[in-house]
Amino acid sequence: MEKLTMAIQKSGRLSEDSIKLLKKCGIRIQNGNNKLKAKTNGFPLELIFLRDDDIPQYVEDGVADAGILGLNEVLEKNKQVEVIENLGFSRCRLSVAIPRDMDYPGKEALNGKRIATSYPILLEKFIRENGLKAEIHPISGSVEVTPGLGLADAIFEIVSSGSTLLSNGLKEVETVLQSEAVMITGTSLPQEIQGLLDQLLFRIRSVQKAAHNKYILLNAPESKLEQIISLIPGIKSPTMMPLAESGWYSLHSVISEDDFWDVIDQLKAAGAEGILVVPIENMVT
Ligand code: ATP
Ligand code: ZN
Repeated sequence: MEKLTMAIQKSGRLSEDSIKLLKKCGIRIQNGNNKLKAKTNGFPLELIFLRDDDIPQYVEDGVADAGILGLNEVLEKNKQVEVIENLGFSRCRLSVAIPRDMDYPGKEALNGKRIATSYPILLEKFIRENGLKAEIHPISGSVEVTPGLGLADAIFEIVSSGSTLLSNGLKEVETVLQSEAVMITGTSLPQEIQGLLDQLLFRIRSVQKAAHNKYILLNAPESKLEQIISLIPGIKSPTMMPLAESGWYSLHSVISEDDFWDVIDQLKAAGAEGILVVPIENMVT
């Protein structure tokens, strides 16, 4: 039988969440002794464990049909691959940072400066697009320490909380790219593989939708039903069941995390009581 081959990070910031996502899609990794590859249960999927830097090349070459890695790394490697889905984890940004006490009237402050980075391709693009003249110092490893050591005047690196910058006396001055984990594929997949990928994507989207929504149960007085129902339209419309006490109903529906607290406040104001909110495991709509 045909199998989808997917490359994920062997160990690092992406690996745990990649495996967690697959697990939520009903896919369990079979623990073999082989550390490069693993078979799975629950889906015709084989995993290859790689350094994230190597994933675009393996996908371009067709050794892996798909891969999960940060958008930052996909763009830096610039291979013939397609980003087919944003996965919502490992969010970070690629930014320019300079010593805290350096003046920064604008991008032109970077002219003539030495910028250390482990993303030379993306930095070159940023410099070119902004008509700047700066020196790129490609470095692998702790880029943040280079200004303090006098090796560079500025850095171009991944920032998530900003605490690493802070502890190295740096400030972020330009955000060049917002990144998150994405799924990539080769540019032309065989039809059966594409079919499997579509099935997997369907599961991933269901999981993501579920994570984004909550199941809500509440009691509503008959006189306020219409108003309360309009606040929780749900997928089709809320389920409504009469309570043992006459004049009261139990309503069940789905609400989005985005406006969660607003809706709760409005429900309370409208007279809803006994509001319960529970997580949703999966959402197939
Ligand atoms: P590998 O050994 O696989 O090459 P790595 O050292 O390049 O690992 P990690 O530090 O594990 O990579 O980060 C992998 C990805 O996680 C990054 O490319 C980025 O997309 C994302 N990421 C999210 N938050 C951060 C962060 N705070 N620092 C670095 N990367 C982050
Ligand atoms: Zn890497």
